[in-house]
Amino acid sequence: MTAKSMMPYVEGNSAIRAMFEEGNRLAEIYGKENVYDFSLGNPSVPAPEEVNQAIKDIVEEEDTLLIHGYNNSNSGYADVRQTVAEHLNKLHGTSFTAENIVMTVGAASGLNVAIKTLVDPGEEILAFAPYFVEYGNYAKNHGASLRAVPADTDTFQPNLELMEEMICEQTRAVIINSPNNPTGVVYSAETLRKLAQILTQKSEEFGREIYIISDEPYRELAYDGVEVPYVTKFYNNTVVGYSWSKSLSLPGERIGYLVLPSEMTDFENAIQAANIANRVLGYVNAPTLIQRVAARCIDCTTDIDSYDRNRKTLYEGLVDAGYECIYPEGAFYLFVKSPIDDDVEFCAKAKEFNILIVPGKSFACPGYVRIAYCVAYDTIVNSLPKFKELMDSLK
Ligand code: PLP
Repeated sequence: MTAKSMMPYVEGNSAIRAMFEEGNRLAEIYGKENVYDFSLGNPSVPAPEEVNQAIKDIVEEEDTLLIHGYNNSNSGYADVRQTVAEHLNKLHGTSFTAENIVMTVGAASGLNVAIKTLVDPGEEILAFAPYFVEYGNYAKNHGASLRAVPADTDTFQPNLELMEEMICEQTRAVIINSPNNPTGVVYSAETLRKLAQILTQKSEEFGREIYIISDEPYRELAYDGVEVPYVTKFYNNTVVGYSWSKSLSLPGERIGYLVLPSEMTDFENAIQAANIANRVLGYVNAPTLIQRVAARCIDCTTDIDSYDRNRKTLYEGLVDAGYECIYPEGAFYLFVKSPIDDDVEFCAKAKEFNILIVPGKSFACPGYVRIAYCVAYDTIVNSLPKFKELMDSLK
């Protein structure tokens, strides 16, 4: 018999599958170009040409046993980690070395390694609604629980006053995500300063560390020159999780890293624990060929201008059609207020216009919907009259 603990996931998964199948069904009836699928955060621009070139060069130039073998360290290649550390130092004025970096199987495994490293079963993690739905599952994987800090729907910046009230003896970590999925909001330096102040005070009050786990797969997807401050500079007890899934359009390659700063409490044990967590969770080491590719392409990013064009056109079109939405500064999502109270019902109505979007309920923030604009520009342009018809149908 299948484990009872998995059955809620199996049942929950049918909704996601239903959405996927519905997209295919609509595409068959109306043609793919007449279906506006904004449901998935899958990059729509190809990986930079440098990535394919790096793969060819590595296969030509490097030792086959080395590029396809187990890594000596479960944290990954030392030279790749050193390249990552130096890159971060150049960008952010930090002073990391290879010793601070653990290569991971994308951000998802990085978050699991971070939680296993820092959080004991029975402890609690806080996350700011709306948040990436998997956080709750990752906490559960390690016997921890996730509590949502309700959203500040005026700004979608983290609601720090509520967080302060919610921190208790069991709280071990706070997950943050900037640029944010699903709101596109970027956390300011001022926000991070206040967050650090509160966590320092609360760690003292309870006599135990409260960590920040900073989930940053969208770090490079920031527009209009907005600054995405580096969190370790505000708070020593921070673990940063990064991935190249979005910045190099490589989500299927499963490659990312964790940063554990030397200044964090109990660093020597923590960095060893993260290395071991990588192994005992079954990841063993991050995929080796693509580690080397990431190092060779350390200064590359994907075509962010395409996302930016989508962002502006979609935002302006939706506002013109009467929708309310915070102006997103990063990532590739718009988080739009549902024109009717029930966001699930609104998504069902949108489907009648061949528009596929995700209810805010899936991000612990009902009353809103997420529109992933990592799609072809034509999809954006052609969807706007449909969004208008959808809005008019509600009047
Ligand atoms: N965190 C957030 C906020 C995400 O949106 C995603 C993926 O969409 C992930 C983590 C997982 O990223 P990865 O594919 O690198 O595991």
